[in-house]
Amino acid sequence: MKIIKKKEELIQELAVAKLQRPNSLTSTKYGDKVVYDCGCKSKQHRINDPSNRVFAIAMPVKFAIECENGFLSFIQVKGFFKQTVNTFWTCKSKLFMDALKQLGLA
Ligand SMILES: [Zn+2]
Repeated sequence: MKIIKKKEELIQELAVAKLQRPNSLTSTKYGDKVVYDCGCKSKQHRINDPSNRVFAIAMPVKFAIECENGFLSFIQVKGFFKQTVNTFWTCKSKLFMDALKQLGLA
């Protein structure tokens, strides 16, 4: 998991992330054991935690998900019968919003 602290670095990641808006098929109804690593002080969250906010999605089964502590993590869920989660990168939500603004996406 990469913790991103520089806007330039985040903008590079966003260029390859191909984020889309969540849609009606976007679901985080995974089991309670499906957790992802986050850059915040909690370190991990359940994907199905109702205090999370799915900010964006990408193919296949990737989420840009914001936790209650103000961190945004870009994750991918893998596996069908047993799911594991890979966190590509994580950053403060504010940095994410700043980067989106600079890219003209916010
Ligand atoms: Zn978090």
